[in-house]
Amino acid sequence: MNLLYSNDTQGAFPDSWYAATAHPREPHAQLRGDAEADVCVVGGGYTGLSAALHLAERGYKVALVEAHRAGFGASGRNGGQLGSGQRAEQDTLEKLVGDADAMKLWHLAEEAKTLVKDLISKHKIDCALKPGIAHACFSAREMQHEHAYVEHLQTRYNYDQIKPLDANELHTICPSPRYKGGSLDMGAAHLHPLNYALGLAKACEAAGVTFYENTHVHNIVEGDTLTIRCDTGRIRARHLILACNGYLGGLNRRVAGRVMPINNFIAATEPLGDDAAKVLSKDVAVADSKFVVNYFRLSADKRLLFGGGESYGYKFPDIDKTVRKPMAEIFPHLQDVKFTHTWGGTLAITINRLPYLARFGPNILSASGYSGHGVGTATHAGKLMADAVAGQAESFDIMAKIPTSPFPGGPAFRTPLLTLAMTWYAMRDRLGI
Ligand SMILES: Cc1cc2nc3c(=O)[nH]c(=O)nc-3n(C[C@H](O)[C@H](O)[C@H](O)COP(=O)(O)OP(=O)(O)OC[C@H]3O[C@@H](n4cnc5c(N)ncnc54)[C@H](O)[C@@H]3O)c2cc1C
Repeated sequence: MNLLYSNDTQGAFPDSWYAATAHPREPHAQLRGDAEADVCVVGGGYTGLSAALHLAERGYKVALVEAHRAGFGASGRNGGQLGSGQRAEQDTLEKLVGDADAMKLWHLAEEAKTLVKDLISKHKIDCALKPGIAHACFSAREMQHEHAYVEHLQTRYNYDQIKPLDANELHTICPSPRYKGGSLDMGAAHLHPLNYALGLAKACEAAGVTFYENTHVHNIVEGDTLTIRCDTGRIRARHLILACNGYLGGLNRRVAGRVMPINNFIAATEPLGDDAAKVLSKDVAVADSKFVVNYFRLSADKRLLFGGGESYGYKFPDIDKTVRKPMAEIFPHLQDVKFTHTWGGTLAITINRLPYLARFGPNILSASGYSGHGVGTATHAGKLMADAVAGQAESFDIMAKIPTSPFPGGPAFRTPLLTLAMTWYAMRDRLGI
């Protein structure tokens, strides 16, 4: 079984609302025979596209190999939320890496948000970028924690774009009876994820990147010159960038031991018309405080795009059922609403929920494990790898210094152990503890 093919058709985007509203791009040919490049990038999501773009802009000859189409993976399917900070909160980072490095990681995360906004503006990417993510809490205790965290960001990190919301303030934005307060971060943003990925791909084409789509990399022969063996040919390159995230499989065992694929799901309702105001009165995105987070926003035509539910195996479950359950908990009046599109995607997590950036030997770099926070972080990690190939590795090294433990059980047994752990946390969500 391979997550690259378990739930999808070769070379086709899933039947998502994003694919239905995408700005189409012609597919590139498969690799046929032998090719050469300065840098071979494997994977055409935000990580790979950003790495390829920044390398090509620096004058490198870049080959990007993608098993399906650019934007096929999590980058074309996600909730579109461009969040602030790293995935782990700053106070957690302070304990993990110390105050000084936590500050550096905050600045790198701010750089990631700015990078996405700048790329969209520079390359005129039409992807409905809009400001604002609200964080919604289920209890007064969680709200107090959130408010203390907002204050921490304001005072220690000088971040003034976030403000606390009491229950009334949150309800004027999102009237769900389940939420008891939270925060609103206007420095964060949301976007159409697939159009963002396709826009990056177009920018790569303009910068001279050679794409090989529908081309699967099977293995890598290391050396001063690397050989990247694909199903339909070989690429010889001086550098390799692995940008496969949740779809990596066994391509690199060291990464596979530290980065774990999990599946997450989204549904798009039929347009809600005037009822959309019962979901959101403001065009911001929402993420809530559940361990298996619920996240949602409205589309331009007033559909609810609701993400929730996870699975840990190769095959996706019944997505309608998986998403409808948490959605009906937040919006009971939508229990029987019609879904026009449901889809899933595979992302990758690490034990500490921080990305895993690593170097293998002198000429292989990898970045993955963004733990549901990749819109900004993956784009940024791609740029950091491009900088590192060019000899400017300072920021890459700060990220690579974050300690990332292997999952217990290694690639073979991590799934049953993770399923056990996640089931425990999902049960805590249900019990509200
Ligand atoms: C449902 C869902 C909701 C999410 N919501 C959010 C959100 O709101 N905000 C946020 O910040 N993050 C979110 N994420 C996470 C985010 O989408 C990812 O972190 C990010 O897209 C990772 O980008 P990537 O380029 O590393 O990986 P991907 O976009 O998955 O790209 C990896 C690519 O590598 C290719 N590939 C893999 N192996 C091979 C091989 N052997 N040969 C050739 N090609 C290969 C795959 O085909 C794939 O296209 C979500 C993810 C999912 C699934």
